[in-house]
Amino acid sequence: MNLISNESLQPFDFILFGGTGDLSIRKLIPALYFRHCEKQLPDDGRIIASGRTAMDTAEFRAKLDVEVREHISEQDFEEEAWQAFLERIQYYAVDVNDVAAYQPLVDALKGREDHVRVFYLSVAPSLFTQITNGVHEAGLITANSRVALEKPLGRDEKSAEEINDRLSDVFSEEQIYRIDHYLGKETVQNLLALRFGNAFFEPLWRAEHISDVQITIAESLGVDSRGAFYDQTGALRDMVQNHLLQLLVILAMEPPVSMDPDAVRDEKIKVLRALKPLTGIDAIENSVRGQYKAGAYKDGPVPGYLDNADIPDDSTTETFVALRAEIASWRWAGVPFFLRTGKRLESKTTEIVINFKKIPHSIFPTADGFSIPNQLIIRLQPEESIRMRIYVKAWGDDIELQPVHLNLDFNDVFQKRKMIAYERLLLDIIRGNPTLFMRRDEVAAAWAWIDPIQEAWEQYQYSPKSYTAGTWGPGAANALISKDGLRWHED
Ligand code: NAP
Repeated sequence: MNLISNESLQPFDFILFGGTGDLSIRKLIPALYFRHCEKQLPDDGRIIASGRTAMDTAEFRAKLDVEVREHISEQDFEEEAWQAFLERIQYYAVDVNDVAAYQPLVDALKGREDHVRVFYLSVAPSLFTQITNGVHEAGLITANSRVALEKPLGRDEKSAEEINDRLSDVFSEEQIYRIDHYLGKETVQNLLALRFGNAFFEPLWRAEHISDVQITIAESLGVDSRGAFYDQTGALRDMVQNHLLQLLVILAMEPPVSMDPDAVRDEKIKVLRALKPLTGIDAIENSVRGQYKAGAYKDGPVPGYLDNADIPDDSTTETFVALRAEIASWRWAGVPFFLRTGKRLESKTTEIVINFKKIPHSIFPTADGFSIPNQLIIRLQPEESIRMRIYVKAWGDDIELQPVHLNLDFNDVFQKRKMIAYERLLLDIIRGNPTLFMRRDEVAAAWAWIDPIQEAWEQYQYSPKSYTAGTWGPGAANALISKDGLRWHED
């Protein structure tokens, strides 16, 4: 298993493009700080941040001192450790479009060719090629270098392949780390542990016993300042192509022979390739698009998607999508996988629900007539937990059965700080373990399934249905699942 160990890392230079950006401030710098506190970073491990903004190292550290603190809770903040951590950080202003601008990085890295070198691209994807060419032209890529890229990798299979071609001009596939931070989450890795570290589940993990699977990634936030980017992207490309499909794949894959990176990724890609294509009218019948309109949460009213100044008034971009997918394999034939994601939904919730089939014959009376059968509910948000819904006899002198939850809340069990998903991923990049990163063929296979859905929407001019902010999306999503006699899990 790919757990963070106390194994010490080799000396490294972590070159962070986009060091002044939102992701760096909120997640990447705090993740490295926490690993520093755990004494996992070697003394000779440096973070070399860059951005467009002109400032020197002292000014950048002062900026971090104010801005990063806001993203670390008081109880996790240790002043002495933080000050020592800041000493690791340098900053250089580098306009990545200007080949000459890389010189400060060349100077900073001189004489350290034997160190692990990570080029982390926390910038808009439109800059990926400039940066990889820039570091190549500047002679910065060593045998011990790796490049890490944030999503989205392209907007369809063709553009993703073009980016991958450019990357492979200067890096080998083993040096490329494509991030889906969902794979760094504890619960996702616990899904692997649950399935392949226990005898209970695997015999039941198949069509004979499972009625359907539901995967939901619901956000309560709107698009806010990401409006211009989001309107060119939509929920299908922004969330389904990566996070939702990655969760589906981890859930549905066959047991790998080991946790060796390619053993795991070879099994993952088989699931992507076994997804039944959704093309033409099939794609329309098995999908729902939605777009939020103004609504309200308990804190007050929120504007609709089209009220955002960066969004054209006639935008038909979806902020919600629900899909019914099937996997054509012996294990999963006939089991519907319902995927759903959206912005401005009722609550911020990420969960996987596995509904088991009803018992073949009941000898017990129940209050609810076994209306909801056994369920396994794996939650990633708001809390990380695994719950199993089973029937028991209620205490008392009658024999009526009642559903109860066996509840494993990781917070209660482990009683320690919940790691940011990036902590594991960043260390894995430095360590050179690509198990939790997407291989090129995985990215291509995911787009190959998504592209025909997008094409069908365009071909049939399938407009999004509007839904009120603060609800669970358009009514059509309920109609989609009810065609199978089912309903979305809610509690
Ligand atoms: P952001 O806040 O807009 O930051 C962009 C960064 O790029 C800034 O550091 C900016 O530097 C730098 N930059 C822009 N043009 C540049 C140029 N010509 N030369 C050098 N640096 C340049 O973006 P972000 O939200 O951090 O997102 C970064 C990446 O992560 C994107 O690919 C995004 O899709 C992905 N991502 C973000 C999140 C998130 O939660 N934010 C989540 C998942 C994925 P200046 O500030 O100095 O101009």
